[in-house]
Amino acid sequence: MSTLADLAANPRNPRKISVAARDALRKSLAEFGDLSGFIFNRRSGHLVGAHQRKAILPPTAEVVISERVEIADSLGTELMVAAKTKTNNHKTMIQPELLPLSNPASRATMNGKPVHEVPAKSVLNLESGFAHKLLCDGPTFTMGSACAYSCTFCYVEDLMRKNPHWQGVIAEQPGAKFEDVVIRRRGGVAALCAQLTYADGRPRFMDDDQAGRVVYASPLVDVAANLELVRETIQACEAILTLTRWDIRLLSKSNLLPKVAQGIASELQGAAQRRIIYGVSTGTLDPGIARAFERGTPLVSKRLESLHWLQDHGYRTYGMLCPSLPLPDGDYEEFAEAMATAIRADLCEHVWGEVINVRGDSMTRTVDALNAGGFRRHAQSLTLVSTDKEAWETYAQVTFGAHAHRYSGQTGPDGKPKLRFLQYVTKNTRAWWKSREPDGAILL
Ligand code: SF4
Repeated sequence: MSTLADLAANPRNPRKISVAARDALRKSLAEFGDLSGFIFNRRSGHLVGAHQRKAILPPTAEVVISERVEIADSLGTELMVAAKTKTNNHKTMIQPELLPLSNPASRATMNGKPVHEVPAKSVLNLESGFAHKLLCDGPTFTMGSACAYSCTFCYVEDLMRKNPHWQGVIAEQPGAKFEDVVIRRRGGVAALCAQLTYADGRPRFMDDDQAGRVVYASPLVDVAANLELVRETIQACEAILTLTRWDIRLLSKSNLLPKVAQGIASELQGAAQRRIIYGVSTGTLDPGIARAFERGTPLVSKRLESLHWLQDHGYRTYGMLCPSLPLPDGDYEEFAEAMATAIRADLCEHVWGEVINVRGDSMTRTVDALNAGGFRRHAQSLTLVSTDKEAWETYAQVTFGAHAHRYSGQTGPDGKPKLRFLQYVTKNTRAWWKSREPDGAILL
């Protein structure tokens, strides 16, 4: 198998697109090339997705297998990637002959961190705790186990301490620090396809009770930290859009989610586009503070621009205001208003908020990073609340109170409070937060 012509279409593929949509797809392919690849089921001998792109790209375009199920797979699913089109200042027509593509060899480093790859056995978790945070209805997926970014407050290291992926890295590289490595799951998209289908290739999650259920990505890594990860996320989303009736919630600290939207939009027009909800996360609008405690992430202003682009182009969006620090000047109402304006909260379906939480030595790392970045007053405020339980509770309550005031009476499309404020509670504080549930408090 070496050309697109060898990838037989599935005769039962129900998707049809309008002439206008096909023209838009043709333009997009000419402008961006093929970002998403083709998923092919070897056993059935048919494409799983990407029929419209196949119809537009030249049948002689060469393809190579970029990912293959490594462990014997019951479905015979392989992931094929077609060549990119050549572009010239975004204006070149599709070339008659495409270069064979290549899954671009996996990058050896990301943000200066070595990339470790582990075989993907499972990337989908059907019963995650993220349902309790209302980020999904249970399912989450992740294509990695350690992020390309390095935020000082990140909770993932704590979750992964005993994980075999991380243990394998330490065995290979004793003394490695979790925040200094990237761990990717090789063959992740194929593993995802396998988890979404029965052994005979029928999709598992197509019944009526699956319609509109939300899957969240990612609980462990950023889904769009660079273009290689964007490409992987596009492929994962296309598999989910094709093989399930779920909606997808994506969260990123990058400014590349529009690339995900464009990559998916080029193939799956209309209703499928409305099945993805995009969010960018930040707990501050101060670029210096963000730079101090988030290593490798784009400027907050760039992230916000990308969110606005998605909103301006009709995509579904949500807000993620976290982690927000204690404010030395204490003006939480002003903070809540500024954040709501920055994310254009009126265009977001829901808005999550959370104060910074202590996990492992993340608090020390964050205080140190703020001091090193010259934000001594913020570091002092954080030290104060992290060593005084009452001060901590006051900080959480006033932060919540300011957001609750800002979103008072507002609801999301589900009719529930627009604000979703995540708060860890204790025996002593539970009652106060419980009484605020109608205003958007979510007790953890
Ligand atoms: S972007 Fe998220 S997952 Fe990645 S390091 Fe930062 S907090 Fe952790």
